[in-house]
Amino acid sequence: METPSSSHNHPPATNLFMALFRAFIDILFPPKCLICMRHSIEQEICTQCTASFKPLISPLCILCGSPFLTEGDDNHRCGNCIKEIPPFDIAASLFYYEEKMALAIQKLKYSKKSSLAAHLGKLLSEHPITENVFDLIIPVPLHLSRLRERGFNQSQLIAKELGRNISCNVKASLLERIKPTLPQVGMKRKERILNVKGAFQLREDVDLRGKSILLIDDVFTTGATVGECSKILKKGGANEVSVLTLARVIL
Ligand SMILES: [Zn+2]
Ligand SMILES: [Zn+2]
Repeated sequence: METPSSSHNHPPATNLFMALFRAFIDILFPPKCLICMRHSIEQEICTQCTASFKPLISPLCILCGSPFLTEGDDNHRCGNCIKEIPPFDIAASLFYYEEKMALAIQKLKYSKKSSLAAHLGKLLSEHPITENVFDLIIPVPLHLSRLRERGFNQSQLIAKELGRNISCNVKASLLERIKPTLPQVGMKRKERILNVKGAFQLREDVDLRGKSILLIDDVFTTGATVGECSKILKKGGANEVSVLTLARVIL
C-alpha cells in the first residue's frame, strides 16, 4: 500500500489514498442521524425518524388547516375562522409540532446544517398544496437583529429548497421585518396578533399585483405571524396568499 509521501507524485494513488482515508474516518466517526443519533449514511435525519413525524390529516379546517379532533368530522371552517376570516386564503402544515419534529425544527434553527434544511425543505415539497401554481415563494423574514444573532433565516433555507424542488422563484428580500417582535411562546392568540402588528413591510419598489404567493414558515401556532405577513402581501397587490409550514402547534 502506498504511503502519503510516496503517493505525492502520483495523483491516482493520492486519490486512492484519500478515498481510503475518508472511508477510514467514516468507520471511526460514522455519520449520524441528528435526531436519534444512530448511524445514518444517506441523510441528516434517518428514514425511521422521518417516518415517525406525525402528519396532519383530514378532517382539517378548510381555511387555516387546523385539525379537528372529532373523528368523522367533515372538512369545514374551524371556530376561529368562522369568527373571523383569516388574512391568507389557505394555510397548511405537514406535521404536528411534537417529539421528533419539534427536535428537528430546533436543530434547523440553532445548528446551521444546510443539509438538514435541504431534507426538511424537500419534505415541504411533498405537500399537495405545492401542486398549485405560484408566481413566488416568500419566506417569513427575521428581523435584522435576530438574523445577525443567528446568522441565517431557517424559513428562507427551507423555502429555497422547496423552490428548487417545485421550480418556483424564491424572493426572500421583498418582505422585511421592521419591528423586533417578542418571542411568542406562552402568548395567547390576541397577544400574538398585537405582537406582530406593524412588524412587516414590503420593500418600496415591490409590486405584487395579480401575483399568487406561497408564504413559508417553519411553525404555525395561531397563524398571527403568517396572517400579518399575508395582510401586507395583499396590500401590496397579491391576488392570493397560501401558507405552508413544516409543523403546527396544537394549542
Ligand atoms: Zn434517526
Ligand atoms: Zn380555521
